[in-house]
Order: sequence, then C-alpha cells, then structure tokens
Amino acid sequence: MKKIKLLDDMTIQKIAAGEIIERPSSIVKELIENSLDANSDSIVVEIRNGGKDYIRITDNGDGISEDDLINAFKPHSTSKLSNIDDLYNIMSFGFRGEALASISSVAKVEVITKTDVGSSGIQAFVEEREIIKKAPIGCPKGTTMIVRDLFYNVPVREKFLKSNLVEGNHISDIVYKLALGNPGVSFKYIKDNTVILSTSKSNTIEENIYILLGKEFTNNLLEINCSNENFKIYGYISNNQFYRGNRNHQYLYINNRYIKNTNITKIIEERYKSLIPINRFPVFILFIDIDPSLIDVNIHPTKEEIKFVNEEELNTVLINIIDKSLRENLNIPKAFSKEETKDKIAEEIPLLYEKSFFQDEHDEIVVEQIEKEDIRKENTILEAIQVYDSDFVNYKEDYKKETKKEDDLKEILPRLKFIGVIFSTYILAEDTLSNKVFIIDQHAAHERILYEKYKKEYENEKVITQRLLKPEIVELTNLEFSVAMQNIDLLRRLGFFVEEFGNNSIIIREVPILFGNPQLKSLFLEIVDNIRLVSNNSYDYKVEKIMKIACTNAIKAGDKVANIEVISLFKQLSETENPYTCPHGRPTIIEITKEDMEKEFKRIM
Ligand code: ADP
Ligand code: MG
Repeated sequence: MKKIKLLDDMTIQKIAAGEIIERPSSIVKELIENSLDANSDSIVVEIRNGGKDYIRITDNGDGISEDDLINAFKPHSTSKLSNIDDLYNIMSFGFRGEALASISSVAKVEVITKTDVGSSGIQAFVEEREIIKKAPIGCPKGTTMIVRDLFYNVPVREKFLKSNLVEGNHISDIVYKLALGNPGVSFKYIKDNTVILSTSKSNTIEENIYILLGKEFTNNLLEINCSNENFKIYGYISNNQFYRGNRNHQYLYINNRYIKNTNITKIIEERYKSLIPINRFPVFILFIDIDPSLIDVNIHPTKEEIKFVNEEELNTVLINIIDKSLRENLNIPKAFSKEETKDKIAEEIPLLYEKSFFQDEHDEIVVEQIEKEDIRKENTILEAIQVYDSDFVNYKEDYKKETKKEDDLKEILPRLKFIGVIFSTYILAEDTLSNKVFIIDQHAAHERILYEKYKKEYENEKVITQRLLKPEIVELTNLEFSVAMQNIDLLRRLGFFVEEFGNNSIIIREVPILFGNPQLKSLFLEIVDNIRLVSNNSYDYKVEKIMKIACTNAIKAGDKVANIEVISLFKQLSETENPYTCPHGRPTIIEITKEDMEKEFKRIM
C-alpha cells in the first residue's frame, strides 16, 4: 500500500471539475444558465470546432462588478444562496457556485463584463482559477465569457472527447433545450461561423417550437394548460397521429429548467397506450411551474433530475389534463399519407446527432469532408432552420388552416353508407356530407367495441357471465397452475369462474357472456403465460392485459364480415369512448377524402 497523501488544492479542483465539466456542452450549459440567472433577455452562443477550442457566450444581463469578479472563480462562490434554507426556495439555475471555478480549472477563460454602475467595464483573463490579467474596457452592460483550449492542462480528459462533429451536436442539443425552455429570451447560436438558430424574445412557445423543431412537429401538437394553487402545467403534447421511435423529443421543464423524470415520462406514455402503436413514444414540450419549496433540485450533479414533494397530486392533474386533451382531439389517419416521409422528416429534424452518435467510427471521415467545405453534409439542422425561417412568415396562417378541428368520427359513423367489403376484412363506406370514403378494419373495430364493453362491466363490478353447459378442463404445468391459483380472485372478477380440479388441472365453469363461445383452452394458456411474470402489485396491469387478450381471442374466433351487421357495428363503434384505435393502438378506421383521390389521379395538383 502506498502512503496516504493530501491532494493539493488545484488537483482537488480538477477532480471536482470532472463532475460538472464532462465535455464542451457542459460548459455551454453552465454559462447559458449563468446568463439566464443574470436576468438577460438576449444570449448569443458561439462555438468553434465542437467547442473544444472556442466557446463564447455573450449576454445583456446584470454584469459582474469588479469586487465580485475576484470571487466569482473561487470554489463555492455564489451570489444566489447564502444559507441552507435558501436551497429550498431556489428559482435560479445555479446555486452551488462551482461552475466558474470548475471551468477555469480546466480551460482558459476570458471575461468581459459591465454592470450598470460606472462608465467602463472590465476585461480579465483567468487561468487555474486565478485572474492573471485585468484591465478596464469600453463595453455595453452584460457579460461575455470566452472559454478557450478546454482540457489544455488535463490531457487525459482531452483524449476522451469525441470528434468535433459529435461534441458540436451535444452543444446544439443543449442550446435547443435551453432555447425551447426559455421563451422570453432571444437566443442566437453560431457554429463555426454559421448561424444555426435564432429565436426572438417576443416569440411564443409555439413559435419557438416551430423554429426549433419544425412544421410537422408544430402541426401535430395539442396545447395543454391547467393550474391549481401549487402548480401550473402548460405546453404541448403530440396528438395520436404523431409519435417517434425514441424519447429524444420529450422535453420537460420545471420552472424553466430542463429535467429528466422517468416517473412523469412513464405517466405520460401510459396515457397514449392504446392510441399509438407499441414501441412508439409520444412527443411533448411540457412546462411545470411549481413553488420551489415543493421540489428538491439538489439531488443530481448537473441538476438534471429533481424530486417533487407532492408527486401524487401532480400525477393526478397531469393524467386528467392529458386524457382530456387527447380524447378531444383524436383524428382519423389518412389513407394516402406517406408514413415513410413522415417518419423521415420527424427523424431528421432537427437533431441529426442521434445518428452521428452511432456513427462514431465514421466521424473522422465526415469531419474531413466538412473541412472541404461540404457544409450540407455537416448538419441538416442548418438546412432545416433556413427552410423554416423563410417559411416562418406564412406560418401562422398555415398553422390555423392545418389544425382546424377534424370532423367528429362519432357523428360521422352512424350516418355512413355501406358500400361493400374488400379483401374479406375491410368495410368500405362513404360519407356524402364530408366527401370522404372510410375503410374500417372490421376486426379492430369489433375489438374496440368488445374491449370497452368489457371494461365498463368490470369497472361496475358486474361482468355478466354464462355457465358453460360442458365445463372445460385445462391441464397446466406446475408453474402455470400456481399462477392460475394465485390469480383466481382476479379471474373471477373478470368473469372467469375457475376451480382447482386436481393434478395441476383446473376446471372453467363460467365465462363472460360478451365473448360467445371462446376457444377457452388457448385463451386460458395465453392469459396465464402473460401474467406469469407480472409482479403481484401490478393489479391494474394484469386486468388490462387479460381484457385485451380476451378480446383479441374472441375476435380471432369471430364472425366473417359477411355475417355481421355492418350498420350496427358503425353505431356501436360510434358509442365507444375511443373509436379511432383498437385496444392495441392500431387504427380502426382510415379515411380518403375526395381531394386526396383527385390528387392521386392528378385531376388537381
Ligand atoms: P452559481 O451559478 O452556482 O452561483 P457560478 O460559478 O456559475 O456559480 O457563478 C458564480 C457567480 O458568478 C454567480 O453566482 C454570479 O454572481 C456570477 N456570474 C457568473 N456568470 C455571470 C453572468 N453571465 N452574469 C452575471 N453574473 C455572473
Ligand atoms: Mg452557475
């Protein structure tokens, strides 16, 4: 064992800096947050070479006085907190007083700053937390921080940095998040001499979403807004037609701070469950303003996670508002909408970094191309932004046109004229009033109807059952048998009357009347198989699962379209709470407008 040594101050600081300054984007985050804390309403971010060589943040905020400047770079120096109680009342982004100390321990910092006192400002150069040069300078009120040569004195850390492309994309990501989360502040972002984005402090959140995330995005969002005495929830969530293959576009802000919170994410995703396909994720840009004494922001090194005091209450409000807004805004998918293009646009805009992360090993090649000035290849963000900028003038009118309320399916369904059945599965129907043709998936529609009826019966604790003339005996394995026995009450509540029949077999005596004569054996095995791994406390999950399995099973064994009463199907579907999708989230109905048809036949362009 080596002898224990006390580390010197600078080494301690460099180690501590590692917690906060992981990569150039961490610096950008800390500096922008400082600018926001200093009451700026205009912030310019400029980076070069992925931020490794050069980062500049200029703001028009309060500035730093000469006295304060001496302390600002010392560890644990902050103007935002003076005792532990303040920590639970914090509205500022920063409060630990370690960002400037950390940054100046691992990079060279230049500050130009002026408060509204006095006629000139100060320019200072800081290395290893010490001001090495300082002079008065003429400049407007506000602060500019320039960070050069990151990790010049910690070569080990420098080696861990990724290519300029990747580091640059991390920075873009941060700037986007902060710009989205802080309407009321103008942001300008310049990357290697090119303006990548520019928002205005007079923009609404919606206008910022349009500029930052694009038109497709904006057109598919639903506004939500509600409040009680403890918090206010507002922002946008995607409708049932717009979703992504990942969670990259789920933006959550608490008191304008971008945070990650798996509980809230889960709760929101849950609300979309039978509305969008499996393994797809809703998009949201959600703001929660909350009394700072009801949250703890001090639980994570970069403050990306926080804790809520009254989480339950928040969850309930969130669930209600999302359900309401989703239900009121369901719409019918278009038959000729090109899913592929839609997905492609959604993937490309605006952050291509998602791809570049995974293409790490090819980065160098791409970077080389950039140095050959192939700017198009470097970043599609640029293109996207330019397109939207020129579009922006027409945006408001466009937006209104495209978001006009869709016809209500519940009104259309009962008046549909039945035309025929195609591919022995799909019902073709016409609505002369709205000039539309509808294609209904008989099975999906039927499944939705059954599911909602069953659910209602279960919730009212009266699942109507029928006694089987010939009770069914099902043999199970040891494990299956014990699962069935453990869930015997639950099954009963769902209308399946099951008893032990010796030797690992069970006897089914009654089943819900809704399903006619189900294929009991396979249904039962599927149920047991699906609830086998679910823990005991996920009761609701099991109920949901069993209901869905029972419905799917009933449909599989169900009638051919020729035998069903189409008009009654339309009517029953119109009476469901959500006639748009089957319980698994697949559409029950798609539409073709007369206009779509005329476009396809090139009668109109
Ligand atoms: P913290 O933000 O946690 O207070 P920092 O190390 O980030 O700690 O900053 C230290 C102090 O420097 C801040 O409390 C603030 O007083 C001052 N400061 C930093 N950046 C700015 C800025 N852009 N404008 C005005 N003051 C600033
Ligand atoms: Mg700070």
